[in-house]
Amino acid sequence: MIKTEKVLHLKSSRGRKVRVVREHYLREHVPCYSSLCQAQCANEGKVLSGEVTHYVMPDAGVARDFMEILEFREIQGIVFTQTACQAVQHSRGRRQYNRLRSLLKDPRHHCILFANEFQEYSYCPREKGEPQDKWQTRCVYHAAVWYHDHLAGLKPVVMITEDQTAVAEYSSLNCGVYVLCTQEYLQTFWPELQAALELYCSIAQSLQEKGSEGTEREYTEHLPAEILEAGIKSGRYIQGTLNVNKHRAQHEAFVRFEGSSNKSSELNSDVLVCGGKNRNRAVHGDMVAVELLPKGEWRGRTTALTEGQGEEKGDETQSQPMATGRVVGILQRNWRDYVVTFPPKEETQSQSRNSQRILATPWDQRIPKIRISTQQADKLQDHRVIVRLDSWDSTSLYPNGHSVRVLGRAGELETEVQTILIENCIHVPPFSEAQLGEMPVSSPESPWSVDPAEVITRRDLRQTHLVFSVDPRGCEDVDDTLSIRSLPPGPRGERLELGVHIADVTHFVKEGSLTDLEARARATTYYLADRRYDMLPAVLSADLCSLLGGVDRYAMSVMWDLDAQTLAVNKVWYGRTLIQSSYQLYYELAQALLNGEEAEVPELGTIMDAKLAQLTQALETLTHVARQLRAQRDKGGALELEGVEVRAQLDEDRNITALVPRQPLEVHETVAECMIYANHWVARKIQESFPQQALLRHHPPPRQEFFNQLQDSARARGFTIDTRSNKALADSLDRAVAPGPSACPVRDQCYHYGLALDRYTHFTSPIRRYADMIVHRLLTAAIAMEKGAGPAKALASNKELEEVAQQINNKNRAAQHAQKVSTELFQCLYFRDKDPETDERCVADAVIYTIRANGMLVFIPQYGLKGAVYLKNREGQVVSERQDGGCDWQTGSLQRYLDHITTTTAVGTSTFNLFQHITVRISVQPSRCHSDTIRLEVVSNRPHQAPETQVQTTQPQGARGRSQLVQEVVRQAEASQQAEEKRGRASKLSTEEREFRQSKCPNLYSLLEEVRDIELHKTSDSGSGYCGGGRLKSEDVQEAK
Ligand SMILES: [Zn+2]
Repeated sequence: MIKTEKVLHLKSSRGRKVRVVREHYLREHVPCYSSLCQAQCANEGKVLSGEVTHYVMPDAGVARDFMEILEFREIQGIVFTQTACQAVQHSRGRRQYNRLRSLLKDPRHHCILFANEFQEYSYCPREKGEPQDKWQTRCVYHAAVWYHDHLAGLKPVVMITEDQTAVAEYSSLNCGVYVLCTQEYLQTFWPELQAALELYCSIAQSLQEKGSEGTEREYTEHLPAEILEAGIKSGRYIQGTLNVNKHRAQHEAFVRFEGSSNKSSELNSDVLVCGGKNRNRAVHGDMVAVELLPKGEWRGRTTALTEGQGEEKGDETQSQPMATGRVVGILQRNWRDYVVTFPPKEETQSQSRNSQRILATPWDQRIPKIRISTQQADKLQDHRVIVRLDSWDSTSLYPNGHSVRVLGRAGELETEVQTILIENCIHVPPFSEAQLGEMPVSSPESPWSVDPAEVITRRDLRQTHLVFSVDPRGCEDVDDTLSIRSLPPGPRGERLELGVHIADVTHFVKEGSLTDLEARARATTYYLADRRYDMLPAVLSADLCSLLGGVDRYAMSVMWDLDAQTLAVNKVWYGRTLIQSSYQLYYELAQALLNGEEAEVPELGTIMDAKLAQLTQALETLTHVARQLRAQRDKGGALELEGVEVRAQLDEDRNITALVPRQPLEVHETVAECMIYANHWVARKIQESFPQQALLRHHPPPRQEFFNQLQDSARARGFTIDTRSNKALADSLDRAVAPGPSACPVRDQCYHYGLALDRYTHFTSPIRRYADMIVHRLLTAAIAMEKGAGPAKALASNKELEEVAQQINNKNRAAQHAQKVSTELFQCLYFRDKDPETDERCVADAVIYTIRANGMLVFIPQYGLKGAVYLKNREGQVVSERQDGGCDWQTGSLQRYLDHITTTTAVGTSTFNLFQHITVRISVQPSRCHSDTIRLEVVSNRPHQAPETQVQTTQPQGARGRSQLVQEVVRQAEASQQAEEKRGRASKLSTEEREFRQSKCPNLYSLLEEVRDIELHKTSDSGSGYCGGGRLKSEDVQEAK
């Protein structure tokens, strides 16, 4: 080993130049991480494949400025030098450096790190007076030469640089080592990868523009990091995340502080930041440091927004002054990809150069306009485009960014769906060939079959157990099956065996495999209104891991040996099994069997009495057991509502018939109860085995408050809401619809809404939730430990588990949000072309479910649509009821009560009660840059009298209305798509995307959950402000008629 000195010139965060001398050790052996290595390097972990035409080595400048291009998975064989990595670290900060590091770690990216500066023969010391960038480029070139020689010239090495003099100087020095500028490299080696070249041009343009900016200061400079740090410690500054109020995005933001270490003890709320100057270039989501303004300058937050109140109108009422501050520095940028809309032609200002600087408007209203330099402004007007932010200097009124990818024309279905995905950070590209290569083969020609070697390691239940599944009709991904049977009596009497058998996903998906990494990144299957994006490749989710009827499947089972009378648990068995489900039932069929109704079981074909009796008997026993289990939990206190799932059904044409279950079936709860039981017992098992590492579910406390409030409201109206179960909840809401003041006595009961179970986890849906896969692995390890084997390999550490849990939570939130927004998108697309004044489909019955300061939230069962109805407009007029129930706008006032709201005008007083049915008109408020929004206005204070033209079918009306809505929108989109194709444009809809499959739809519970979300929003985000269910937009300026 050789010791030398390395001189670094670093810039301190205050901008001073610092000279640092470090001892530097050189070694002869530094791993090359290439599979072509000729020198027995100690290459552990990821190595570069030899199956590429060349290796590419970016110099420091390319790594620093064009890393996004190197992130394309198509570009393989990338060697990052230590020199380039350090340049990224020093000039682009920790965030960018971490991004590079995760790129290097990710096996899906074919890139490695070569520690060139530790290699004795590739290291070159900096010469006196040599500029840093020149030296770095020289280092990388030397590394490229060494690398090429080290592999005995088996693979050409291409160094890429933006330094034209380097290209001239080095390109002909060594045979087999090429030096190209990035653009030429992309054109030569990746001509198919048009997106990379476009991105290159976009970034290059942005860099060029950046050099030619003005010097006039628009904002105060941010303070350097060490001053911020000291200030936060001393309590002078407050650290927190910036949250922009989307209804007043330009003016109002709040800093929610982190942790309890704030010295300013008088602060017990968020800090208000008013206006752009005080926000000082912080973007929604950034971690910032704020300084409080003198108390005399404190302001109140906006409390009530009235219908039609635009951003700029200033007659809003303000609450009591609160802590108000200004941003003095940014601790961490949390920028993501943003979807923007390019302005129409007349708004783009032409520049002197051949490019244009345009101000694009982000889809997310909380994000400021972004300045982009582009030569495509004309072509892209009214298109939605993904952009990334580059910088926001104090001399620039707006942040600078560059475009990444064009999504399509605004307003088109595919563009809008892609927008929703990007805005929620959901990345669901088709599974790669490498990922699919890990999958077992199953095709009609060579069907998959069980492996005899695997079979002997499993408990075979095929002959001994009657296994069946109960799911929504048409379900493709069957994660769970059940069995129940009598056991020979034991010393304490009759015994039963209950079995829950879950798809053994982790048998097929090995930890750390490419498929596993992809599933972890997705964390869940995403259900949008018209499509779904699976967490796992279809061969698993719809085939080998789906516990279909009549085929052998691997399962992970939990089986309880129970006392038949008391259901006391004698013994629990956990393990891997082999099953064959005999019946794939759907809920209605199972319920019909239980009710003793005529029912045709497809598997039985012509009725075979004995078998049918056996199945019915099993279902009855199961129902009995589930009732008892539930009763036990009820005694313990509370209920897990989320365990009850209602999924959408498909009709014969594979259309979604999404429905709010008006009459939930008991069998739903029976199945759910068994799943809850399994989840609970698996949680016990893994917690016993790994007290430190079990992934357990945690329930947030506010739920209880929410239900209490709902119950209070109901009680005030004279009836009870039973929230113990989905069915009970639905039943009581049904009753609530037509209440008699004394019909339902007020029950004085106090429920607890957490779990009556002390431990809980996710085990029963491994096909569509990554959390369940983790739990399956933990359970497998627990079983192995019990058998005497130490854990085969180290389990994930707590920190890793915590990170994964955080990721799963984030993705789940994103999935829920995307589902909600996509539903709203379809609603808008459906109503967009209908004239609300004449089209009877735009008038519907609505139920008031929440009372607000200046209106109410209503639910329209026919379309499964929720929204705000305003009773007061910007002119101060209120909705007033005529003799016939019809409504007008009149000058008057508004009074809100717990369970009703009244308006008073010269004509008289109108009352709107909680849970009352009213008639509303539905229209669409279009928006060019953001999402369109649904607007609701009261037509009449009475239930809607639907025209008698609708044909009654067995399906509930709501289901029909909503499925028609989605179908019609898709039909329209496909028609216009076909028209486009005729004009020679390529199809953007992949087969996968076009195909409809099972979709998860919001049930009654999720409707109520949303009310809770709004409640939380209200208290934590904008005080007592009215948020209109998150629909009130700055564009709602058009006054109501
Ligand atoms: Zn080597």
